[in-house]
Amino acid sequence: MGLEIIHLGSGSRGNSTLVTSGDSSILIDCGFSLKQIELRLKKIDVKPDSIDAIIVTHHHGDHSKSALRASQKWESKLYSNTETAIKMGWNPISECRTFGNLERLEISEEISVLPIPIPHDDAENIALIVSNGDGYRAGFATDLGEATVELKRHLKGCAHISIEANYDHNKLMQGLYPDSLKRRITGRGGHLSNSQTADIISEILTPNLRTIVLCHLSDKNNAPHLAESEVLMQIANEFKGSIFISGQDGPDFKIIVGEKEIKKITYSQN
Ligand SMILES: [Zn+2]
Ligand SMILES: [Zn+2]
Repeated sequence: MGLEIIHLGSGSRGNSTLVTSGDSSILIDCGFSLKQIELRLKKIDVKPDSIDAIIVTHHHGDHSKSALRASQKWESKLYSNTETAIKMGWNPISECRTFGNLERLEISEEISVLPIPIPHDDAENIALIVSNGDGYRAGFATDLGEATVELKRHLKGCAHISIEANYDHNKLMQGLYPDSLKRRITGRGGHLSNSQTADIISEILTPNLRTIVLCHLSDKNNAPHLAESEVLMQIANEFKGSIFISGQDGPDFKIIVGEKEIKKITYSQN
């Protein structure tokens, strides 16, 4: 059985990704309004109360916005690490379940998740490796200033990765952001540039890797063609799969990891 991945949207105005295996599904982040999330799920005919769990990577609003309300309304379990729960003011007993770094969560018989700590601003952010019962693995990493050795070790061998390509270095440097903000974005706790993302992918690339989604692109400091070309330039010789970009206003497509052929199902935008 494959892992199905649908980015409901990704960027500084909100992030949420639906991952499904068999009858089980999870949302990674819930960073849109509840109304928006439900609207986007409706577009792909997914009933919100079919979602088993919502996993919040860190407390920033573009990842956490409606997570608690959604979990209560849909009766889905809410998961985060302790630091994120504290920052969100969530009760770790009655409102959410907390986990530690590298503690594997068995969400259902079909889906398990491994949280990996990654450096990001004032947040205790995590990347996630999602595995299903058939042994397919997909990695998800956004909002990080750099990839740790540990993250790269876990991304290696994944069949799919969704990874941020936040900014084009030249665009950021030539843009109007104050120097202090430029320093923060490019720092260890900031975001990944297109070239950093390309470097990470080329390091973790194995023949297993079939699909890549570049996400969390900055509106001001990046463009889809810049991100895609920078990554492709580095990996084109070895990478035989497909690259996609997830924009802010998804869902645009579904990827099924584990199919012999890469399946991309495109949703009409109306
Ligand atoms: Zn963040
Ligand atoms: Zn973010």
